[in-house]
Amino acid sequence: MFDLAARIADNLRRVREHIGAAAARSGRRGEDIVLVAVSKYVGPAEIRALVAAGCTTLGESRPQLLWERAEALADLPIRWHLVGHLQRNKIRRTLPLAAMIHSVDSLRLAEALDQSAGELLPDRRLPILLEVNASGETAKGGFAADDLEPLLPRLAELQRLEIRGLMCMAALEGGLDVARRNFADLRLLRDRLRENLPENIRLDELSMGMSGDYEVAIEEGATIVRVGSALFEGI
Ligand SMILES: *Cc1c(COP(=O)(O)O)cnc(C)c1O
Repeated sequence: MFDLAARIADNLRRVREHIGAAAARSGRRGEDIVLVAVSKYVGPAEIRALVAAGCTTLGESRPQLLWERAEALADLPIRWHLVGHLQRNKIRRTLPLAAMIHSVDSLRLAEALDQSAGELLPDRRLPILLEVNASGETAKGGFAADDLEPLLPRLAELQRLEIRGLMCMAALEGGLDVARRNFADLRLLRDRLRENLPENIRLDELSMGMSGDYEVAIEEGATIVRVGSALFEGI
């Protein structure tokens, strides 16, 4: 008989195994890598099965869906990450719900987040990642890699943000070799920026890798992977 919970638990176990193996190949442990399960393809029943299987860090790429799900699943101990583009008019509803925003892709958005965080999150700073257009594709969002260094002093003035790292998506074309190069480029950019970092910015996290390329991303230094479809195969 088809058993949704068993299928999802099995998928999760397999993804975690692959994460552990890739981490070992890069001299780390599987526990050092954060798995963000991207739930945009599935409904509440599948999400409940995933949480029951032990995965409680979830991601959505659309703010509206994150709001709906955070409300519908408020009884579960989920940490929600926003991994997709955030329009400024959606900031106020998103901030109280999001443990981390991966996709801060402009200075304007960072400034707006800083201002709202001051009002809505008086007790904590808002953890964010800066999205970098590592593949250089024109359709992709994110800071151009070369733009980031001159912007760091202005980003450092945003005291309500906790800037914790960089995020990227690999090029759509070119397969794993190109993806690996995109990920390696993001890590090199991070290493370069670290040489001259304002003191309230830390770039410890690299959010890179999705279902098709998370193992390669970990080999190239990812600390956070965002995996959707691989967790929901066969359901
Ligand atoms: C959908 C999505 C993912 C997960 O994609 P899969 O290929 O299904 O693992 C990761 N990151 C972002 C930004 C996404 O939009």
